Amino acid sequence: MIKTEVVEVRSDNIDMDIVRKAGTLLREGKLVVFPTETVYGLGANGLDEQAVKRIFEAKGRPSDNPLILHISSTGQMDRLVTRVPERAVKLMERFWPGPMTLVLEKSPLVPGAVTAGLDTVAIRMPDHPVAKAVIEHAGVPVAAPSANLSGKPSPTSARHVVEDLMGRVDMIIDSGDVSIGVESTVVDLTSERVTVLRPGGVTLEQLREVLGEVDLDPGLINGENSAIPKAPGMKYTHYSPEADVIIVDGRLEDVVDRIKSMAGSLEDSGKRVGILATDQTKDLYARGLVISAGDRNAPGTIAARLFGLLREFDKKGVDVILAEAIEERDVGLAVMNRLLKSAGYNVIRV
Ligand code: AMP
Ligand code: MG
Repeated sequence: MIKTEVVEVRSDNIDMDIVRKAGTLLREGKLVVFPTETVYGLGANGLDEQAVKRIFEAKGRPSDNPLILHISSTGQMDRLVTRVPERAVKLMERFWPGPMTLVLEKSPLVPGAVTAGLDTVAIRMPDHPVAKAVIEHAGVPVAAPSANLSGKPSPTSARHVVEDLMGRVDMIIDSGDVSIGVESTVVDLTSERVTVLRPGGVTLEQLREVLGEVDLDPGLINGENSAIPKAPGMKYTHYSPEADVIIVDGRLEDVVDRIKSMAGSLEDSGKRVGILATDQTKDLYARGLVISAGDRNAPGTIAARLFGLLREFDKKGVDVILAEAIEERDVGLAVMNRLLKSAGYNVIRV
């Protein structure tokens, strides 16, 4: 157990004393949790092998699942990668700072612990005033996965971080709820074809506007592991609440009918049922604990609430979560990717 200091830092009036302290802790090899616009990150000095290893211990994260390096200026790129290709420049200009991570060939400076031994490194410049300030004051690239215990839903508020990591990290910076709620889009630029390894806050549609053709990793389409194991993270359970998650997909009326009948028979057999509905459907259910994730026509509203709701259903003690599928367009692609992983790809098609 280590002593965890929990501090509040407002995004609109940043306490620079705390930011300086966080920067110093990071340089000294300590673990600092900070907010980003996607989810909270568990940071360590990304050039310090020992500090990076502490991230894996704190999370219980398998060491062959690589981390993202967070930077606060594009000038930091040159030391971390062998080359910044033209298409990387285009994406950086359009989407940084923001919820997009680029995978490039790593330079020898980047420790193997960060990349899980891969010769590629993932880099992102977050767009959150507190994250930017902390990274800048650390003066080093900050390696950071999501600040949750491995396997749990990612933290979208400091409360979730406290639940998972109290006594395991040196500092937790609380800046309230994050805005996006799903992690960054991971874009692999190390092959001829540009490939999204993980959908996220920057959408596939937006990437295609800039680069034309962009592929989705085959593992994202069929739920199998990637043909080329570029992102080892794909093979682990992810985003899992204690409850079993079952997704129901199909025409909306059919989905609602099926969830109604499943909720009824599960409750009759003594199970506690949670229903992850949407604004459009939440009033149609008579049984189960019904919570709307947001507006189907604005998937960003669902992204912002998804992980928090998975944790909330656990707090309410439900045994099974029945979740409506949403359309895989815009950030809905990232929402469905996370939901599918949380369900272990357990989908009923109606
Ligand atoms: P997390 O830190 O939990 O938000 O996850 C980081 C994500 O970035 C995981 O999906 C990793 O597999 C992916 N990632 C990190 N580094 C690399 C890399 N060098 N190549 C491919 N994917 C990576
Ligand atoms: Mg994570």
